[in-house]
Amino acid sequence: MTITNAQTGEREPSLLHRSLIESPQKVISGSGIYLTLADGSRILDGCCGAAVSVIGHGNKQVQEAIMQQHASIEYVHTMAYTTSSAEELADALTELSKPFGLTKAYFVCSGSEAVDAAMKLARQYHVENGQPQRKRFVARRQAYHGNTIGAMSVSSNLPRKIPYEGVLTLDNVSFVSPTYAYRGQRDAETEEQYAARLVQELDDEFQRVGPETVIAFVAETVGGATAACITPPRGYLEGVRKVCGRYGILLILDEIMCGSGRTGSYFAFEREGDVRPDLVTLGKGLGGGYAPIAGVLISEKVVEVLKRGSASFVHGHTYQAHPACCAAGLAVQQIIKRDDLVAKCFSRGALLESRLRSALGDAKYVGEIRGRGLFLGIEFVQDRASKEPFKSAVKFASRMQEAAHSRGLAVYPGSGTVDGVNGDHVIVAPPLTITEEEVEEIVKLLKMAYDAVEEELV
Ligand code: PLP
Repeated sequence: MTITNAQTGEREPSLLHRSLIESPQKVISGSGIYLTLADGSRILDGCCGAAVSVIGHGNKQVQEAIMQQHASIEYVHTMAYTTSSAEELADALTELSKPFGLTKAYFVCSGSEAVDAAMKLARQYHVENGQPQRKRFVARRQAYHGNTIGAMSVSSNLPRKIPYEGVLTLDNVSFVSPTYAYRGQRDAETEEQYAARLVQELDDEFQRVGPETVIAFVAETVGGATAACITPPRGYLEGVRKVCGRYGILLILDEIMCGSGRTGSYFAFEREGDVRPDLVTLGKGLGGGYAPIAGVLISEKVVEVLKRGSASFVHGHTYQAHPACCAAGLAVQQIIKRDDLVAKCFSRGALLESRLRSALGDAKYVGEIRGRGLFLGIEFVQDRASKEPFKSAVKFASRMQEAAHSRGLAVYPGSGTVDGVNGDHVIVAPPLTITEEEVEEIVKLLKMAYDAVEEELV
C-alpha cells in the first residue's frame, strides 16, 4: 500500500528511515571508491559509510566468495555445525592476534552485539574464576560502543542515550575522562604527564568503586564516532593495562571502528607499546560492508578459565558465525593481506593528513586535525584561540556534510558532547585501496566544501 504524505502529496516511504521527515538518497551502484546515486551523480566515498568499506565497493572476489558459500551451504546452526568459512576466518584473525595472546574468535552480526558479547564474556570469566562479586564496568565519557543495552550503557553518545537512561541502561557503569588532548591536556603538561594523569584518574575510580567489584574497563583504542579519531597520548594504554592487571580487572578494547587495518596497523593497539588486551572487538572493516559481521577476539587467559569452568560461552545468536558473512569477511581479510593494504593505509593516511593540514590547518574554523592512518578527524570551532565550539543550532558538521556531498564527496559528520562541550567534527576515512590521486581529490573537494560553509557563516 502506498501511503501519501498529506502535506506534500509525496509518497511516504514504508521503510522507517533514521529521519521520519527526510528520506536519504538512493544509491544504485558502487565501484572502487565511488558510489552512483539514483540521479546519476557520482560520490567519492570519503568515509566508507562509518569507516566500513575498507576495500572499497563492488569487489568481484568478495561477491564470488559469498555466492560460492551460498552455493554449497547458506546456513547452519552453530549448536551442531560449523563451516570452513567460519573456521578459516577465525584462523586468519587469530594468526594476527596470537602474538598478543588473543587465541580465539567469536562472530556475530553487528558491532553492538560484539560489545555485549565481550561484556558477557568478561562477566562469565569472573564468575567462573571464583569472583562473582565483580559486577561493575568502567568506561569513558565521549565513547561510542553501540546501541544494544550493554553497549549503550558503556557509551556516552548522549543524544542516543538520554531517552533510555535509567530505563534501558545498566546502572553498574561509571565513567572516566576520555583521552582528549585538544581540550583535556593542560598547558604545562607533557603528553606523558597527561597520560599519567588519566591513568591515575582510572586508578582512583577503581579505588572509589572498589577494584574487587570491577569486571572490566571498556575503551576504544582510537576514539571514533563521537570522538573523531582521537589517538591516546603516549603511554596511556600501557598505563591502563598495568592498572587493570594490578586489580584483576579485564581490559576490553573496542576496535570496531579503528581496527582491521584502518589506522595503519591491523590492530590499533599495536602502536601503543606493550599492550595485551583481554578482549578485542572488531566489526565494520571485518566484513568491509559486504556482509554484516563483527567479532570478539578472546585471550587465552579468558579461554582457559571458561574451559576449566562451564566449558561453554553462556550466550548465543541464531546467526552467529553465519557462513555467508564469514565467507565475505574471509575474502575481505585475504584481500587486505594480499594487497598489503595495512601498510598502504599508513602511507596514504600520512599523505592525506599532511595534505589536509596544508589545505585546512590554518582555516578560521578548524580547531584540530587528528587521527592516524586513514582515520582522520577534523574538529571545528567558532574561535580557534578560545576553542569555543559552535552552537548546536549552527549545525556546522551537517553543513560540512551537505556542502561536501553536493560537490561529490561523502564525509561522516558528528558532534560529540564531552563534559558539556559540544564539538562539531567530520571524519574522513576512505577505503584503504585509495590512490594518491584520490587523496588529492578528497582534499580538493573538502576544501571547496569548507570554503563554502565558511562563507555562509560570515
Ligand atoms: N563500537 C564502535 C567503536 C563503533 O564505532 C560502533 C559503531 O559505530 C559500534 C561499536 C557499534 O557497531 P554497530 O553499529 O555495528 O552495532
